Amino acid sequence: MLQVLERFRTILGDGYVLTQPADLVPYEADWRGRYLGEALCVVRPASTAEVAAVVKACAEHQLAMVPQGGNTGLVGGGVPRMGRREVVVSLSRMNRVLDVDGANSTITVEAGCTLAAVQAAAHDVDRLFPLSLASEGTCQIGGNLACNAGGVQVLRYGNMRELTLGIEAVLPDGRVWNGLRGLRKDNTGYDLKQLFIGSEGTLGIITAAVLKLLPMPRSRAVAWVALASPAAAIALLGLMRARAAERLSAFEVIGEAAFDLVVQHMPGVFSPLAERAPWYALIELGDSDPAGGVKILLEDILGLALEERLISDAAVAASLAQMADLWALREWISEAQKIEGISVKHDISLPVSRIPEFLDAAGSALAEHFGPLRIVAFGHAGDGNLHYNLSRFNAAENTAFIARSAEANQIVHDLVTSLGGSISAEHGLGQLKRDEIRRYKSGIELEMMRGIKQLLDPAGIMNPGKVL
Ligand code: FAD
Ligand code: ZN
Repeated sequence: MLQVLERFRTILGDGYVLTQPADLVPYEADWRGRYLGEALCVVRPASTAEVAAVVKACAEHQLAMVPQGGNTGLVGGGVPRMGRREVVVSLSRMNRVLDVDGANSTITVEAGCTLAAVQAAAHDVDRLFPLSLASEGTCQIGGNLACNAGGVQVLRYGNMRELTLGIEAVLPDGRVWNGLRGLRKDNTGYDLKQLFIGSEGTLGIITAAVLKLLPMPRSRAVAWVALASPAAAIALLGLMRARAAERLSAFEVIGEAAFDLVVQHMPGVFSPLAERAPWYALIELGDSDPAGGVKILLEDILGLALEERLISDAAVAASLAQMADLWALREWISEAQKIEGISVKHDISLPVSRIPEFLDAAGSALAEHFGPLRIVAFGHAGDGNLHYNLSRFNAAENTAFIARSAEANQIVHDLVTSLGGSISAEHGLGQLKRDEIRRYKSGIELEMMRGIKQLLDPAGIMNPGKVL
């Protein structure tokens, strides 16, 4: 072990091989504090060549590696396991923008760039990099790719998969695959980059990527609306799509319990509407034409929705500051929940049309099985993606409920599957759903996944115990 640590120090320099327990702490626990592990060390390479040399050393010593970006993942995929002497490979020093090609509308970045830094670099050349998540100040492009991150603008711009043209990755034996092509058309066989996107660090370490840039929206409009039911929300989504078409860039729903937590825990937050409602939607339209009239369009559609009784009230932001205030109500939900305490979390996707049916059936089935629960439901309804989190109102009772997570998961996941949905929409499997997925994915799909893992990582040293 001393020998391999010495080799890491030779490759990286003394300061970039962390072994002191106090230095390891931030890398050993996940954002929610649900997964705690132990690292043999944390290595902090500054280039692809250094990553490759570190991986080669690990492969020779049969040491398991855990790639880590901003460590904001929600399924325990980026932290080491207990008692396993795993090497955490942190990409945070690889944070350079390598190239911006305006004519090709692409940006090439190292994997350790934060998402916010990539958005800012795009902004500097008057372009948009549209991936947008509440964790964007901390999460990194490598982590976004490894999780195929989604977020709040997927219905207009797609997930990380749709936003990526090329990647570079270090394979589990230390070889470097340079697939940094900025091409929108390339039919030369299997699309290997898509294997790495969403692989949660189990097939290799992503070191760089070529990402798409889009035209910057020149005008925006944001509204917060009150709704009587999920069915009304889905009907409103249909109306928005029909009238605003591609200008609809976000359609988020927020259940009353989620809204209550934000108002209760986050300072300076207030309700934009006089009346309370069981459901809310946050809607954004954007247009690349500065005189696009999106605010008038949004007000017109909402007027129609009021007439048709799809909504009971609405507030349309009158300034950029008000837009930010409305978005804060949505973005603070995760933080507010964290303050409130642990819950049984689900990140599910469904055909959009079946969201109301799911919410109805899941609410009844859970109440029948567990009695009263707090259901914090919110998410990217425009993509059919809900975050559906369960807890008891009382902290002492909650501990006992958390111990019964498996029962709650089965109720929710069986229902999701019966409605044609997925048990992981955007957060991945990590450690949290590694066993659960075996119940829901077909044997043939799991077999193909295992075959790919075996081909690229026969020794099983790249992020073991995650996904598969
Ligand atoms: P990490 O947590 O460091 O790692 C996540 C996984 O990726 C791990 O399996 C890790 O091994 C792997 N990995 C990291 N870097 C690399 C690399 N360079 N090469 C190979 N594998 C790597 N997610 C969404 O999709 N949509 C949301 O709206 C959203 N909102 C969030 C809000 C909050 C407040 C928080 C805390 C999280 C949210 N997330 C969301 C989850 C998380 O932020 C994203 O999944 C993000 O993409 C993770 O990036 P990261 O750099 O923090 O990755
Ligand atoms: Zn989300």
